[in-house]
Amino acid sequence: MEQTHADVIIVGGGTAGLSAAQTLGRSLRRTIVIDSGSPRNRFAAHMHNVLGHDGATPESLLERGRAEAAAYGVEFVEGSVVRVRDAGDRLAIEFAPLTEGSASETLTARALVIATGVRDDLPAIPGLSDYWGSSVLHCPYCHGWEVRGSRIAVLATSPASLHQVKLARQWSDDVTVFSAELGPLDPTVERSLLARGMRIVSAPVTEILGDGTGVTGVRTADGLSHEIDAILTASTMVPLDGFIADLDLTRTEAPHGSFLTVDGFGRTSHQRVWAVGNVAAPMATVPMAMGSGAAAGGSVNFALVEEDFTVALSKEHDD
Ligand SMILES: Cc1cc2nc3c(=O)[nH]c(=O)nc-3n(C[C@H](O)[C@H](O)[C@H](O)COP(=O)(O)OP(=O)(O)OC[C@H]3O[C@@H](n4cnc5c(N)ncnc54)[C@H](O)[C@@H]3O)c2cc1C
Repeated sequence: MEQTHADVIIVGGGTAGLSAAQTLGRSLRRTIVIDSGSPRNRFAAHMHNVLGHDGATPESLLERGRAEAAAYGVEFVEGSVVRVRDAGDRLAIEFAPLTEGSASETLTARALVIATGVRDDLPAIPGLSDYWGSSVLHCPYCHGWEVRGSRIAVLATSPASLHQVKLARQWSDDVTVFSAELGPLDPTVERSLLARGMRIVSAPVTEILGDGTGVTGVRTADGLSHEIDAILTASTMVPLDGFIADLDLTRTEAPHGSFLTVDGFGRTSHQRVWAVGNVAAPMATVPMAMGSGAAAGGSVNFALVEEDFTVALSKEHDD
């Protein structure tokens, strides 16, 4: 890399980060993407509900995105960002290169886009994580069609899971609700689930059974096994933004966690920092993450355009 100062550094080269990168590259901004290479959907063999890419592998979309951004001059660094400091008219971004044994390095930029996504923490039930992304599913819009009409279990993880419980019924008339984490069911809710032909199992789940390629059943604390073909459940989504702690950005406390507060273009409470994709909007799917990246790319560029004029004026006054 010729110099260490960029217009924009994007942390995270998933869908959101690459989308912002494409917009900024096409805006002739020197843009560097620092990425540690672990997109959230890497556990799934195929993506769905992504217009123009339905059924593609997650990696193929990112490969194409990297190539498209690189064609506009965007540079890529394999690394994990560990710290960001405010240095007045720039931000200092420290990262650990992925190459083993390499010392950490620092790049500076006028603006930063955080696009690091979330980590999915799953309930600690033996067997569950083995099938995450194949037959243990988080989103019926992404993977419900593939398991339509099959024996679907909904593994409730909190009272908020009722939403997912009801949704599951749209894709199959053979749905078993494992309701222990929902707490005592409101009698009206229970009646409505039963009226829609759903089974309710209140005994806690102790193990997920599988044959190595997919789930085959759910074992409960009462010793019973329930045959199923797919599980719908929710993870705890943890935003990967610890490296930004020094900037003390404003956060929004939501039932599903604490996330960076952003405006409609992804701008945070710091005038040089934007956050896009799942790190700020954990429910965003691939197309939503892509849209947020494009919106932020334009917003970052415009902020820099404004700064270019302000700087030019101040130089004129100095002369
Ligand atoms: C199992 C599964 C299947 C899914 N299937 C679908 C689907 O079919 N259709 C759909 O629309 N959505 C699907 N999703 C949702 C989809 O994964 C997200 O919408 C999408 O990944 C969000 O993109 P993102 O760019 O915000 O984050 P990510 O794709 O997670 O990308 C974040 C990137 O940032 C990097 N990173 C993290 N921390 C750092 C750091 N400190 N320094 C440098 N880099 C860092 C990561 O390595 C990663 O490359 C699925 C999710 C899961 C869990």
